[in-house]
Amino acid sequence: MAETRAAEWVRPAIRALSAYRVADASGLVKLDAMENPWPWPAELREGWQEALAAEPVNRYPDPAAGEVADRLRRVFGVPEAADLLLGNGSDEILQILIHAVAERGRTVVAPEPGFAMYRLLAEAAGMEFVGVPLGEDFRLDREALIAAIAEHEPALVFLAWPNNPTGNLFEPEAVEAALTAAPGLVVVDEAYHAFARESFLPRVVDHPDLIVLRTLSKAGLAGLRLGFAAGHPEWLAELDKIRLPYNINRLTQATARFALDHWDAFEVQAAAIRDERERLYAALVERPGLAVWPSAANFLLFRAPEGQGRALFEGIRERGVLIKDLSGAGGALADCLRVTVGTPKENAAFLEALDGSLRGMS
Ligand code: PMP
Repeated sequence: MAETRAAEWVRPAIRALSAYRVADASGLVKLDAMENPWPWPAELREGWQEALAAEPVNRYPDPAAGEVADRLRRVFGVPEAADLLLGNGSDEILQILIHAVAERGRTVVAPEPGFAMYRLLAEAAGMEFVGVPLGEDFRLDREALIAAIAEHEPALVFLAWPNNPTGNLFEPEAVEAALTAAPGLVVVDEAYHAFARESFLPRVVDHPDLIVLRTLSKAGLAGLRLGFAAGHPEWLAELDKIRLPYNINRLTQATARFALDHWDAFEVQAAAIRDERERLYAALVERPGLAVWPSAANFLLFRAPEGQGRALFEGIRERGVLIKDLSGAGGALADCLRVTVGTPKENAAFLEALDGSLRGMS
């Protein structure tokens, strides 16, 4: 094909980015993306399909997704004083948040290692991103965070709670300290809430500049793409202006209504994943040469023997299991890999592939 003029016209901030890439998992046991490994319970499938079949997809969906929002409030105990904004995954809400405050010369602050989208979206919007290194064992370095806030006066601070990819919950007091110190908006991203079960959601009532973010992805509906933000009506009204009309499609709304009416089933699955997480953690602790960190999420971060992160990842993949290789990032994540908690069978396959790969390297 002939050359385009993209190089001339695409903004330099975008040209400088690398796309968020997802590895090909075909034929592999998929433990790379923090999905719930179980499909819908069989007894729910028929009712769900009936709900979908009743949807007139020739018509636009409810633009406010009101019936979904009502159920989200009820199921997750959103304080009455808070407003909600729904997104096509919480990723879309991150983009809306950045879009709302982006201006050249403004800064976004978040701990690092952290969720890659915070930096990507901030830089794409022409903002400066300041990553604050985590302390020992990936604890939030409260002094460093407060110092970064004082120095950069960020428009936005992101705190993933639990953090991805480290899996830990930062100390609530450190999060509170950031809330007090920040001059702008603080977003506590609770994507992994189903596995941590602690939340800042009730605190949006006392902190007008706190927004809590949730998603249905990790609890079992990653394919659905539904996330929500809860916070002060003034913030939410501004964000709503740049939400695309009809961003939550009819099939997502119908599925979410049905799923939220049967949320107990997803809670049972989340409890099983938490149990499996503890078993997998214990199994990793036993493996000589590996370091593993406790997790409040549905994944575990572990470190391969020095200099062997990439080789260990590849050895595991060659044996049929896909996890996430973070070793390329270096720094605090040197030789680190992340495994999502799967079914007992998948976790056994992972441990077998891990052992085979470790043996192959020694
Ligand atoms: N926040 C964090 C911390 C995440 O790890 C993820 C998913 N990797 C998301 C948000 C986005 O989730 P989704 O768009 O599926 O709601």
